[in-house]
Amino acid sequence: MTLYIVPTPIGNLLDITYRAVDVLNNVDLILAEDTRTSKKLLNKYSIKTRVESFHSYNEHSKLESIIKKLKSGNTIALISDAGTPSISDPGFLLIRESISRGINVYCLPGPTALIPALVQSGFSSDRFIFEGFLPHKKGRKSRLENLSEEKRTIIIYESPYRIIKTLNQLLVIFGNDRKISIVRELTKKFENQFRGSIKESINYYNKNLPKGEFVIVISPPAKKT
Ligand code: SAM
Repeated sequence: MTLYIVPTPIGNLLDITYRAVDVLNNVDLILAEDTRTSKKLLNKYSIKTRVESFHSYNEHSKLESIIKKLKSGNTIALISDAGTPSISDPGFLLIRESISRGINVYCLPGPTALIPALVQSGFSSDRFIFEGFLPHKKGRKSRLENLSEEKRTIIIYESPYRIIKTLNQLLVIFGNDRKISIVRELTKKFENQFRGSIKESINYYNKNLPKGEFVIVISPPAKKT
């Protein structure tokens, strides 16, 4: 009667822990966001455990049957396409329901994009705030306005389609005093990092078409002297 939340690589398939492989080998069932994506990883590590889909479109409808399996003594692992489930990925609903029904829930430590993006930004990592994806339309501007008052380092997930729009909005709302670090394709072949001002980042991505996955990290405001 145990649910394991198992982080998987965010690009480089070597970024998996021995324990994650061990758990995935030994559970009764693996729930995967996209079974085809996860097969690549499972095949690499010769993991033969049965896999079922669990994604944002079926997480409500499958919840009860999964809880039933857990309650009847099965051990289940939840994985997502990349990184830690429940971090801007499905998982929260199942975790919350499992806890309320007395099921053991363990999250293994492992890959996630936000921590390397924060640490290699070089901005203060003592205190930070993770925003995940910004709302696409409703509430986006007010969210950014609230964030502009934030004194901690800010981490935002962004897609290549919206990054220039977001940077332009950041420039209008935050001004150009903050430093920004943008990592792209962490752990992958075309990994790169931009460091500079918000204005410089807009110039950079207007010249270098944004492709792949991005994490934006914004420095805290400079201390007034
Ligand atoms: N569960 C994942 C985690 O723990 O980081 C996040 C999944 S979310 C659907 C995908 C977003 O995470 C991307 O749009 C990007 O912002 C960020 N991300 C995931 N992998 C990344 C990578 N290799 N490089 C940069 N950003 C990445």
